[in-house]
Amino acid sequence: MVIAVENLNVRYGDFHAVKDLSFRVESGELYALLGTNGAGKTTTLEIIEGHREPTSGTVRVFGESPRNRDTVRPRMGIMLQESGFSPDLTVAESVRLIGRLTRRDDTVARVLDVVELTRKAGTKVAQLSGGEKRRLDFATAIWGGPELIFLDEPTTGLDIQSRDDLWGAVDRLRENGSTIVLTTHYLEEAQQRADRIGLMHKGVFHREGTVAELTRTLPR
Ligand code: ATP
Repeated sequence: MVIAVENLNVRYGDFHAVKDLSFRVESGELYALLGTNGAGKTTTLEIIEGHREPTSGTVRVFGESPRNRDTVRPRMGIMLQESGFSPDLTVAESVRLIGRLTRRDDTVARVLDVVELTRKAGTKVAQLSGGEKRRLDFATAIWGGPELIFLDEPTTGLDIQSRDDLWGAVDRLRENGSTIVLTTHYLEEAQQRADRIGLMHKGVFHREGTVAELTRTLPR
């Protein structure tokens, strides 16, 4: 098992954003957190990634607290909804910088090739289009082929060709054994890509299970 979440609760002041959430992600799975705006998907990811402390409940990643950043962080790659790239760095510089922080081995050339940004290697981040920035986000998440990869709404802003390319790259990572956690608003995307889905609404799971189970029980 790669991720175990037990009775997770997160409060922002008076607001109860995640309520008693429990789920597990097995090695090699693609698990989708699907839900409406404000359902608590990003909050849940932030806890599992170790960026935020839960109000209550336990989270284990590779059997450890994700707050043990030195041991857990080098095993994961993260594509946030909004990255904090420095606009003055080039594409190649950004990838190299973040790649080094992961302590995994890889090369800028390989990663830029996977996301088809080779031609933009010398371009400053400020000059990239929205879709190119999204691909740069993805590039930094896959540096060194991490065992666990978080993709927070990865296809938002991508055209159809870029979406297909991204899913192709995800397929290859999975063939090499990576476990993927995805958040998305799109039922169709989750149905097509995920092994299992947690359907979130207002901080709780409405449904959780395999795609086949959900398709059987959900109203059209
Ligand atoms: P979306 O699909 O819109 O990205 P989400 O499912 O990822 O939504 P979250 O970003 O986890 O949802 O937000 C869950 C709820 O918690 C929202 O109502 C949001 O307004 C609230 N929230 C998130 N971060 C904070 C914060 N730092 N302080 C207060 N409330 C917050």
